[in-house]
Amino acid sequence: MLKRAARKAARTISVLVPGGLSFARRVRRRSVAIVMYHGVVEEELPVWNWCQLHRNTFDKQIAFLANEYRILPLRDVIERLSRGLSAPEGTVCITFDDGFRSVLSTAYPILLKYQAPATVFLVTSLIGGSEPPWPEQLYCALASSTCDTVQFEGANFSLQSNHDRASAFERIGARLLSLPAEEEEAELERLLQTLGQFSYEDYDALAMLDWKEVKKLDAGGLLSFGSHTHTHKILSRCSPERQRFELLTSRQLMLDHIGKADLFAYPNGSATDFTSETKRLLLDLGYGSALTTIRA
Ligand SMILES: [Zn+2]
Repeated sequence: MLKRAARKAARTISVLVPGGLSFARRVRRRSVAIVMYHGVVEEELPVWNWCQLHRNTFDKQIAFLANEYRILPLRDVIERLSRGLSAPEGTVCITFDDGFRSVLSTAYPILLKYQAPATVFLVTSLIGGSEPPWPEQLYCALASSTCDTVQFEGANFSLQSNHDRASAFERIGARLLSLPAEEEEAELERLLQTLGQFSYEDYDALAMLDWKEVKKLDAGGLLSFGSHTHTHKILSRCSPERQRFELLTSRQLMLDHIGKADLFAYPNGSATDFTSETKRLLLDLGYGSALTTIRA
C-alpha cells in the first residue's frame, strides 16, 4: 500500500524550484506540482544564495498560485493519491526544506494572507540550535571570509567580489554534495578552518526554528511538518547504518515533539541522492511518502 502510494506519487508529482521568470509557465495544470522553497528573506543577502528568496518575490508567487491554482496540503494530496484518487485539477503543494526560522517570521504572514497551506521539512539535529544546514555553513564562511581566494580540489576560487563568492559557493557546494559523507565532513571542516572565523549571529536570515515554534505552527493548522533527515546528509553517500541513523533519529524526534512523522523529503533529492536501500528503510521505519526533486 505504502509502496504503491510512493510510486503513484513519484509519477504524478513534480517539484519546482522557484526564482526564475519561467515559474508561471512551469506550473502545469494537469499534474500535481510541488513548489519547493527554503528560506524567505526580508532583505537580499549581499552574496547571492539560491535558497533564500526575497519576501516580495515570494508574496507575488503565492498570490499567483492562490489566484490561478488550488493550493492543497501535501498530506491531503498524498492521502488521495494513496487511495487511488486523483488530485483536483490545478493542484499545487508548497514546501519549505530545512526548517529556517524565516518560514515563521517572513513567509508565514504571507501564507496566512492567502490562506496557503505548506509543509516544512526539518533537519532535526538543527532545530533549536545556532547552526544552519552544512551547505549554508559553507555559504556563511565564503560570504564572510577575509581571504581573496580559496583552494579546493586543486583549483583556486576567487573570493574578490560578492559574485565570485556566490560562484564559489555554487561550485564547491555542488562538489561537496557528491562526496561520501565522511569525505564531505572532512572537506567542509577544512574549508571552514581555512576561510576563518565568523559568527552565525551575523546571519540572522539563516537561523533555524526551535521545537516550541514548530509545535505552535503545527497546532495552527496551516503548516505541516515532515523530516529532511537528522543532519542533512546525502543518503546515497552514507553507509546503510548511517542512513538508518539519519531516518530513525529524525522520525523519533518528530514523533516526540509533534506526534507525526509520515512525510519525508530527500536532501538534494535527485535520482543519485538516494538508493533502493533508502526507500526500503523509509518504508520499514514507517514513513508514508518521500519527495524527490526529480522533475516529472
Ligand atoms: Zn535541504
